[in-house]
Amino acid sequence: MTARVIPFPKRKVPRRIAREQFEILERLYPQAVTALNYRNEFELLVAVILSAQCTDARVNMTTPALFAKYPTPQKLAAADHADVEEMIKSCGFFRMKTRNIIACARDIVERYGGRVPSEREGLESLAGVGRKTASVVLAAAFHAEALAVDTHVFRVSHRLGMTLGKTPRHVEEDLIALLPPVKWGDATHWLIAHGRQICKAPTPRCPQCALQSLCPTPAIIARMSRR
Ligand code: SF4
Repeated sequence: MTARVIPFPKRKVPRRIAREQFEILERLYPQAVTALNYRNEFELLVAVILSAQCTDARVNMTTPALFAKYPTPQKLAAADHADVEEMIKSCGFFRMKTRNIIACARDIVERYGGRVPSEREGLESLAGVGRKTASVVLAAAFHAEALAVDTHVFRVSHRLGMTLGKTPRHVEEDLIALLPPVKWGDATHWLIAHGRQICKAPTPRCPQCALQSLCPTPAIIARMSRR
């Protein structure tokens, strides 16, 4: 039998409740950081590009060999496409990802003197880098104020009633309005950690969730089960 899709709440929770939800998440995941392994901003950028539609664990299995052979933007910019494709094959969409990481490395070499740019405009001008990737790199590598909306952040924040946003950008705007800028980067990791451990797709583990009494979704699930 196919599991029924749990609809997102149609109304936002009051701002006071959303803030309380964030306080609980902060207490639950005080050490939350990106699960991707990296040694510098270039490696993080490449790892984030590879992580699209792929697990961080799989990326972490792939990148040691990739970074051993292509440790700098200069080396990756000059890489043979077929060789990189073979190395990153298990990450999925490997042809597109190979084109993106090589083109991105070339952009870094040709336009930024071999250094990953540290502001959003520069990052988003690189091949294969969109707003989410730029936000992850800004927050994790440069400690800048940025909240990244990935699939976990989108799902968990909707289920909690923090946002009704239809697009990642709209969700981002709703979430950053609830927090001081200094917490934006950490909040990304709280929501991702909660999405991985408890508020899973497709079925959340509400009975085990510390946010249950503040979350509108358990009532939605209860109504579904009565139908
Ligand atoms: S109560 Fe359920 S839906 Fe709400 S955050 Fe927790 S696990 Fe997710």
